[in-house]
Amino acid sequence: MLQKTHYWRREANLIGGEWVGADSGETIDVTNPATGETIGTIPKCGKAETERAIEAAAEAFESFKKTSADERAKLLRALHDAIMDNQDALAELLTLEQGKPLTESRGEVGMSAAYVLWFAEEARRIYGDLIPSPWKDRRIMVTKQPVGVIGAITPWNFPSSMLSRKIGPAIAAGCTAVVKPATQTPYSGLAWGALCEEVGIPKGVVNVVTGSARDIGAALMESSKVRKVTFTGSTEVGKVLIRQSADTVKKVSMELGGNAPFLVFDDADIDRAVAGGIAAKFRNSGQTCVCTNRFYVQSGIYDRFAEKFAEAAKALKVGSGLEEGTQQGPLIDDNAVAKVEELIGDAVDKGGKVIAGGKRHELGGTFFEPTVIADAKPEMRFSKEEIFGPVSPLFKFETEEEAVALANDTEYGLACYFYTQDLGRAFRVSEGLDYGLVGVNEGVITTEVAPFGGVKESGLGREGSKYGIDDYLEIKYVCIGGLGL
Ligand code: NAD
Repeated sequence: MLQKTHYWRREANLIGGEWVGADSGETIDVTNPATGETIGTIPKCGKAETERAIEAAAEAFESFKKTSADERAKLLRALHDAIMDNQDALAELLTLEQGKPLTESRGEVGMSAAYVLWFAEEARRIYGDLIPSPWKDRRIMVTKQPVGVIGAITPWNFPSSMLSRKIGPAIAAGCTAVVKPATQTPYSGLAWGALCEEVGIPKGVVNVVTGSARDIGAALMESSKVRKVTFTGSTEVGKVLIRQSADTVKKVSMELGGNAPFLVFDDADIDRAVAGGIAAKFRNSGQTCVCTNRFYVQSGIYDRFAEKFAEAAKALKVGSGLEEGTQQGPLIDDNAVAKVEELIGDAVDKGGKVIAGGKRHELGGTFFEPTVIADAKPEMRFSKEEIFGPVSPLFKFETEEEAVALANDTEYGLACYFYTQDLGRAFRVSEGLDYGLVGVNEGVITTEVAPFGGVKESGLGREGSKYGIDDYLEIKYVCIGGLGL
């Protein structure tokens, strides 16, 4: 298995079908967050290499846009099979660079393959329209064509599945791409490029560039040859990229930060709510955009929920992601730990009560105890800020109206969850919540068949599902006259 992992750990960039280093020869170290050890290097590329990758993608687009839907579907099916054939090795590589438990990495790699297969099927469903014409002697036709060269920038928390969710539809639509994986977790992205090469996706269709995020990002945003950029990451960086896109008026889709509320009503199945809350909070050590940031519990069950939830959090097994049985791995780096410590300190200063965890784990490094804080108050920083760590603030509420208002009191709008047994309330509350994704009595709801994306400052556009290919297609209206019509 280790040999296999090594095979997928590519220390070069993929540009126009060649594996190359940075022009300067410079490299960046990649660290295993569980041990702090360097596991390898990647090229430190910048503007020049990115421009060459864009050229390669633009050249490849000229022939790739003419391939049939069947050909592209076949390539994507082969890519799906290759990902699944190497699931264990790719999962181990992901855990090595990212830290999440192997079971979660296997799940992510499986999800990555599922997105690719979904878009293999969608490739064959890119239909147009023949619109009833107001003119007797003309026909009105609408077709869909690939946008062109795509830039894709992905985060470190889901280094494999985010790529499939972006490049799967790009290939299905007939687009070509330049990918920039997160600097902390580049190997999953480079492996994705290597898999494309292995299954015969033509040279230049997928290019992978690592290095200076700022320089690569600017080169992608400022190039008139790149017609769309798809970004997953923080709202802060997303806003920078939107501004940079203005001069070339390109399409942008943005999957940004979240501040997910999790509402537990008095009539909820409390054990189900505890289990859903644990999954929605502590998966990936709390480092997902859809992780619960704020728990709101109705006063009638607040104490019972808090007790059970704290017990369940304390029972989570913290450890190296490579050890079977681990439920929570390390945080990505020291900055993440410092942020979590700051937020806990702020909460305690303002009257919060730590009822589970609260500090670095005895394993040291970036391991952190699963933490629960009771008596959370609106003035605490985590009401507004994304925690991105294993900390659960428990707020109290009295009425349904108050709960919905509190949940919506944020500039974010990605995922939210609520637990109730009342059907009327299930409809009322899900309609009242200003979010792109709503889980009712479910804490983990992402699937390739459903649209993923946020409202407000959580983003623009949707990924996955039948809607996830729209942003990779241009709509063309063709009016045909004459011809004896
Ligand atoms: P980040 O914004 O720091 O980085 C994301 C990507 O952008 C990385 O590849 C990074 O190298 C690159 N980048 C950073 N600065 C850049 C710049 N100036 N120009 C161009 N590229 C730049 O985010 P992160 O820390 O990797 O990920 C965590 C964030 O991502 C959280 O806010 C989380 O909520 C969000 N996220 C959102 C989704 C979603 O689907 N909505 C999914 C996962 C993560």
